[in-house]
This record gives sequence, structure tokens and C-alpha cells, in this order.
Amino acid sequence: MKVIRSRRQRVCILIALLFVVLARESNASSRPKVRVLSTGGTIAGVQLNDEAPAYRAGTASAEDLIRAVPQAKKLADISVEQICNIGSQKMKNSIWLTLAKRLNEVLKDPDVDGVVITHGTDTMEETAYFLSLVSKSDKPVVMVGSMRPSTAISADGPMNLYNAIALAVNRNAKGRGVLVTLNDEIHYAREVEKSNTTGLNTFVSPNRGRAGLIQAGDAVFFSEPSLKYGLRSEFSVDLLAELPQVEIVYAYSNVGRDTIDYLVNKGVRGIVLAGAGEGNATDEALAGLQDAAKRGVAIVRSSRVGSGIVRRNIEVNDDRMGFIASGELNPQKARVLLMLGLTMTTDPNKLQNYYYEY
Ligand code: GLU
Repeated sequence: MKVIRSRRQRVCILIALLFVVLARESNASSRPKVRVLSTGGTIAGVQLNDEAPAYRAGTASAEDLIRAVPQAKKLADISVEQICNIGSQKMKNSIWLTLAKRLNEVLKDPDVDGVVITHGTDTMEETAYFLSLVSKSDKPVVMVGSMRPSTAISADGPMNLYNAIALAVNRNAKGRGVLVTLNDEIHYAREVEKSNTTGLNTFVSPNRGRAGLIQAGDAVFFSEPSLKYGLRSEFSVDLLAELPQVEIVYAYSNVGRDTIDYLVNKGVRGIVLAGAGEGNATDEALAGLQDAAKRGVAIVRSSRVGSGIVRRNIEVNDDRMGFIASGELNPQKARVLLMLGLTMTTDPNKLQNYYYEY
């Protein structure tokens, strides 16, 4: 059947079509845009079978994770990228550099309003702190994981991911550096640490307290982040192909200096002492560290305790031995700051200042 339309009718139809297309476009672009960078972890973990608690972390893809929270599509237009798919105990400096560089590229994209990074909880505090020191934007960056694998009864991943996406589009989350959310809580990258091997409430911020709470995407912040990070940080990964080697030595009763001597002979650039109490160790271990400092290895005293402050010159004479005190940073975070610090200087006084400033 032939439909004859006047020129005027055809123009009207064209204009109407144009309006429909424009309306759709503006509807789509009115939702904020979130990029999910996926790295693996238990949130992407799959049980070996229905009954067994055993599971393989880093199995489900970024798309699978988003499919498990269809409600999140109402919060934002979500795009995904798989950076790696590993249990975070396998995190490496090389992946950190790739992730940080990609994060900065994504943050520069005017079409991205916020970023969510899915990650295992084992080393999330380290990655979060590293990224908070080298990411250059005020846009929200939210790290999220889960304690139960994606196939578990009452898996916590989907709700945690929903909260992370809600935070990534929350104006109030801007300028706070990298945030970590899990179990309806929000933590600052510098403060957060894993405190329980399996509990849903594993993340704590023992020294300065958690940043806030989030229920079904509705966030409340209790405090402002402290010290330097993000745009105010002087550290950058732009020109870095690798990070200086920094290792951690654990203190315990009767600890000797063999491990320290081994590391120094291997040529490490820095050693962090996970000290007893306020960064203490046996005379033998301290003598080993003092000799290492004399050979130009940066020595940072931190604590294995999990909270509190390691101050200078309390039971150990840092001035005389050439050591640096980690302040509030636990050993794994003190290592992150030392690696970045050593990209700028080897002067123990300047390195010490980083521990006051960051
Ligand atoms: N080892 C796993 C990981 O860090 C388990 C911890 C988790 O993701 O909750 O990837």
C-alpha cells in the first residue's frame, strides 16, 4: 500500500523523530557515568562446589559482578574494564603501576564521574593507600570487595558493589581520596586495615575511625580525611617503570639479624620493621638494622600491633641509629610510603617528613 504524505507531514514526522532521539540521548547522559576496574578477589570468587567452603578467588568477570546487581543500573551508566583477575594476596608492584596509570587515564576522561575498583580484601588496604598517594583527581574512587565468594549463601559482594557505585556518584564523596567500602561502612585509604580473616566486619580504621556509614547506597560521612593524598600528593607513577625494592622484617622474641643481613646483601633499598610494641626489636636485630642504615638502606620502624603510633626516639634512639619512625602507618602501609618516598630521595630526614605529612 502506497502512503502519500505531504511535504509538511514528512517534515513534522522528521522533527518528531528528532525529538525522540534527542530525548533518549539526554535521558542516557543525565545519569552519571561510573567505570568499574576489576582486579579479582573473593567478590569475584567461585566455590569449588556447593557444600565446600573452599573457593577460587578472581574467577568471575567484571561483567558477572555487575550482572549480580541489576539495581545499580538505576544509579549510573556503568562500564567495566578487567585489569587482572587474581586473589589480592598475589598483588604485585607491577600490577599496581598498571592499575594506577590506567586509573589516572580513566579519571581524566570527562565522560567518567567516578571509579569503582573491585579487589580482594587481603591487600586492599595497601592498594588503596598506594592509589590514594598517586591518583590525581577529585573524582570519587571507591574500592570494594567481599568476604564471601559470589556463589556463597548470603554473598555480600552485590550489596557492597551497589554501595560502591552509589558512593562513586555521590558528590559528597569527591575530594576524599580513595575510599574503601564493605559491610555498610566507609573507610579512608590511609586508615583502613583488615582485622579478621573471614568476618564480614573485617575492615577497621583503628587510629582515626571510619569515614562513615552507607546503607542501601545512602552515605553519611563522619569526618574529613587527614594529611596529604591525591592532588596534594607529590608522588607520581607517570615516569615509573618499577618501584624500589622494600621488604618487611617481622620482630618476635629472640629474633636475630640473619634475615636483615640477607636482605641488605641482596641490595634492597629499604626495610620496614614490623616491630614489637612501639617498633621495638632485640639488640641483635636493631644492630643489623643500624648496619643496614649505615650502608644506605632506609630503615623504617613500624609496629606489628595493629594500632597506635610509633614515635621517634622512645625506646630506640632513631637519631643515633639513622632510623625513621612510621607514625600511624602499619608495616604494609609504611612499605608503600617508603617505596614512593625512595623514588624522590634517600635522605632519612626527608623520608621521615613523609611519614609526618602522608
Ligand atoms: N585471598 C582473597 C583475596 O584477597 C580473599 C580475601 C577477599 O577477597 O575477601 O583476594
